[in-house]
Amino acid sequence: MAEQFTFQAEIQQLLDILVHSLYTEREIFVRELVSNASDALNRVQYEMLTNRELVDPDAELAIEIKADEEANTLTISDSGIGMTRDDLVNNLGVIARSGAKAFIQALKESGTSGGAASDVIGQFGVGFYSVFMVADKVRVVSRSHKPGEPVFAWESTGGSTYTLEPAERESRGTDIIITLKPDAKEFTQSWTLKDIIRRHSDYIAFPIYVGDDEEATNKQQAIWRQDPKEVTDEQYNDFYKMMTFDFEEPALRIHQRADSPLQYYALLYLPASGERNMLNPRKEAGLKLYARKVLIQEYSKDLLPEYLQFVQGVVDSEDLPLSVSRESVQATRVMATLKKTLTSKVLSELKRLVSKDREKYVKLFKVYGRFIKQGPAVNPADRSDIEPLLVFNTSKGSADEFITLDEYVERFVANQQDIYYVLADDVTSAGRSPHLDAFRARGIEVLYLTDPVDPVMLMGLPEFKSHKLRSVDEADIDLSEIGELKADESTPVKESLPEDSFTALRDRFTAVLGGRVKDVRESKTLTGSPARLVSDETDAGRNMFRVNRLIDRDYELPIKVLELNPRHPLIHNLSGMLASQPDNPLAGAVIEQVFETALLQDGIHPDPASMAARLTLLMEAATGTPATELKFGE
Ligand code: ADP
Repeated sequence: MAEQFTFQAEIQQLLDILVHSLYTEREIFVRELVSNASDALNRVQYEMLTNRELVDPDAELAIEIKADEEANTLTISDSGIGMTRDDLVNNLGVIARSGAKAFIQALKESGTSGGAASDVIGQFGVGFYSVFMVADKVRVVSRSHKPGEPVFAWESTGGSTYTLEPAERESRGTDIIITLKPDAKEFTQSWTLKDIIRRHSDYIAFPIYVGDDEEATNKQQAIWRQDPKEVTDEQYNDFYKMMTFDFEEPALRIHQRADSPLQYYALLYLPASGERNMLNPRKEAGLKLYARKVLIQEYSKDLLPEYLQFVQGVVDSEDLPLSVSRESVQATRVMATLKKTLTSKVLSELKRLVSKDREKYVKLFKVYGRFIKQGPAVNPADRSDIEPLLVFNTSKGSADEFITLDEYVERFVANQQDIYYVLADDVTSAGRSPHLDAFRARGIEVLYLTDPVDPVMLMGLPEFKSHKLRSVDEADIDLSEIGELKADESTPVKESLPEDSFTALRDRFTAVLGGRVKDVRESKTLTGSPARLVSDETDAGRNMFRVNRLIDRDYELPIKVLELNPRHPLIHNLSGMLASQPDNPLAGAVIEQVFETALLQDGIHPDPASMAARLTLLMEAATGTPATELKFGE
């Protein structure tokens, strides 16, 4: 007697979309079912290593596809891990996989359904359920690898329910029996099936037999074990796409075969688009780990450090102990050695690209730089190998020019010892930083650190080749002996304010700003800007608040020293106003605005929009309203 069950609501939604979908590439259901069969075979192969008690230990690990043209059915069978009754309920009645969930989510967000959904089907791949694009009815008969488990059949027509009933299957594994829709007859043709398999599943590691063929349709090549000279770009790319479900070609590929100290094969790729890589709903981060061709781990995160987790690919070693469990494999010495070797290989390939093809490297760096930059802080031992991979915009180049730290050092001006950087939200605001006045005046180049993770990078990078990295807002930077002072004609430079006027002005600033500044001082370096905020602290923790801000943790703005430019027209005007009309409310408002503008220019204003009311009043004053009629805040 068949028992009836209701699908989880999400599956019902998914099925509704798939059954009515006009997706033209319906053939992908073959890829999805073959991929499931291959997973099931991988899993039973792994079980065999650790578990002696298993049904049919000697069965050939293979996939069979048989069609019946008259009955219009197609059967995909495997001798994989199989499913118990509970497995059938849990795997084919409830969505666990992230891909299908992400698919439904994407549909909900874009508000599409039916026809428009088809764009998304190919991108996400919807696994087993894709079969309902071609099926009127699907029956899954499975015998688990666990001894003594009864065989069950799962059946559904793609509506809101499925049934389970006891069934017969001699050997271990699973049959997916598909009754095709009348318009899907083509999938009973063996040449069609073979063509689909060769295009989508050629690299599946187990033989796929179509019809009564004794020879497998797919090549089953472990491409990573081949001689790189014998593999074409197309094969490499196809393999990559099959493995990652990416549809763009990878940006970089590394194929390595090593014999000592460890014997291993590695085929690694850098996806072209980080977004696809990071948000790929079909794939977690991590490398496929094989021990002598047996898949030990689908997503091993122990083969590369965290800051290189964007790398995709396969690692296969003859030296890994086969009998170990997934949990203990990561603790072995072999793994540690593999990780070290692979890490240095990836880093050296990236380094080669930095000098060989800067444009291409920069494109990758824009995607992956934020990971690489965390390397020095997280893995200090790798720092010297990571340093050559860091590239930056600078005050001397356009937004698409990136230079390395070595290149920066080569461009040092006379007597320069330190590396200078400015932290900002973007290149444009970095360029406008008042801190740069003095550096520009002396022809000194400044690195633009505009990535939110740059403060993290700085924690691990206090110096480069014994040159200190220093922020342009450090209070005690003395540039007087560095480079050569060029007259700056672009900004009208006034005489410096007389000392007593400056003292009065400074006292007023101190009174208005109170505890928000540590001190108010005269600036010796500013030319074009009226003020800037400088910091006394020079330790690596000085930008910690930026890190905390980045990760949404509570932070307090650092209290800094406000430097005023006694040569700037605004400062002159303000000084004059304080002398002639000490009670003019505009003075206080201008002081507030000078301070907040400095915060804004450093990219650390916590609430820029809050300045709008004051700015409006200042504009009113500038356009005519007498200051006495204006109401400035508290
Ligand atoms: P995914 O394969 O991404 O997990 P599917 O919807 O395609 O998602 O399959 C759901 C689950 O059903 C799989 O995770 C697996 O546990 C089980 N499954 C599907 N096909 C098979 C099969 N041929 N043999 C054993 N288990 C299978």
